[in-house]
Amino acid sequence: MKKLPVIQNITPTEISFKSFADYERPIYMDNAASTQVDEDAVVAMIKAMEDNYGNPSGIHEAGKQARESVEEARKNVANFIGCLSEEVVFTSGGTESITTTINSATKASNKTHIISCLTEHGATLNKLKDFEDNKTYKISYLDVDKNGHFRIEQLEKYLQNNVNDNLLVSLMAANNETGTIHNNIEQAIKLAHQYGALFHLDAVQIAGKLPIKPYIDYGVDFLSLSGHKFHCPKGIGALFVKSGTPFYSTIVGGSQENNRRAGTENVPAIVAMGVVCKKMPQYDENMEKLHNRFIELICISIPSCIINGGGMWGTISVGFAFVHREAMVYKLSQYNVYASIGSACSKGIQPSHVLKAMNIASEYVNGSIRFSFSKYTTMEEIETAAIVVIKVYYEIRKLSYGIIV
Ligand code: PLP
Repeated sequence: MKKLPVIQNITPTEISFKSFADYERPIYMDNAASTQVDEDAVVAMIKAMEDNYGNPSGIHEAGKQARESVEEARKNVANFIGCLSEEVVFTSGGTESITTTINSATKASNKTHIISCLTEHGATLNKLKDFEDNKTYKISYLDVDKNGHFRIEQLEKYLQNNVNDNLLVSLMAANNETGTIHNNIEQAIKLAHQYGALFHLDAVQIAGKLPIKPYIDYGVDFLSLSGHKFHCPKGIGALFVKSGTPFYSTIVGGSQENNRRAGTENVPAIVAMGVVCKKMPQYDENMEKLHNRFIELICISIPSCIINGGGMWGTISVGFAFVHREAMVYKLSQYNVYASIGSACSKGIQPSHVLKAMNIASEYVNGSIRFSFSKYTTMEEIETAAIVVIKVYYEIRKLSYGIIV
């Protein structure tokens, strides 16, 4: 890819079309939605499909080999998140891990009060809505402030008000649309346990971006991971279940995963997840530089934009005033820069429930775009993409209002 000249304070008239049509490869900035599969994981996966195709339940040599590779992967995942191998259950992804957690908790107890937060992912919110619609469970939702943080006092109040009935508290570590990190999870876990509830952490967005072990050490009961968010293939995930926690399987059938998730194991994807977990650092030091540089370039040249929430390096939600997010994402894509309107689940014209909960002004909600990076994102891509974003923004503003503002 050719490097484009980076202009410090870019004004729309300074950028010629030619200058940014000059790069060859799409710039992928939608890693919070899904990531490129790690190259070693691809090799291991192909090898698993070619050579290691036995059913892990088989009692012949091929079965034994497949079983061993699953257990090796489980060990790597456990080391990565800082738990015991037997506490890892392989699932098909984040949604299944979350669904399994909520189903399991509700089956294991007669209690009916669940607490979550308005900014959770649809996998949690829609599952809880099902329970609410059936009127069998009472769900309390934590509000958030303008940066996306919940108040620990509100959590405590909800727990106190339902003192004999608290079943589960389910919160995310970092938000998928804004990157806001819930920074009082340790206290939230303590309170949940103090008032009789289990605690589930949706850690889908943080793998490889924030260390996971501290959350395990805080005493979380369930923790959900999704492979495709951290360079594993789609269709693989993991659920941490703390030893001793009552557990009921959602998918029943065979006795795979120690009776916790029936169905023949997805051996190639499990192997790939093990490879990624073995090589991946807990934290990507380069991400902070990329993150800050992108914000710097955008904010200098578009002073009216805002950054929604934030906290975790690598996920940036930028609110552009008076542009339609769909138009902007579409136009960016025409110039080979791939960003997103937020959650993959908020497709369509619905405003983001996350930004609404944060009380972001509507002119920014409608124009909010998420840019998310990965270990494959380079500084060159950041700077090139920033130029394209600035150009596209001013083009759309000019089209909409006939003026450059
Ligand atoms: N939780 C969060 C925070 C997410 O960002 C996502 C996916 O975007 C999920 C859960 C669901 O994960 P999956 O796509 O693996 O089902």
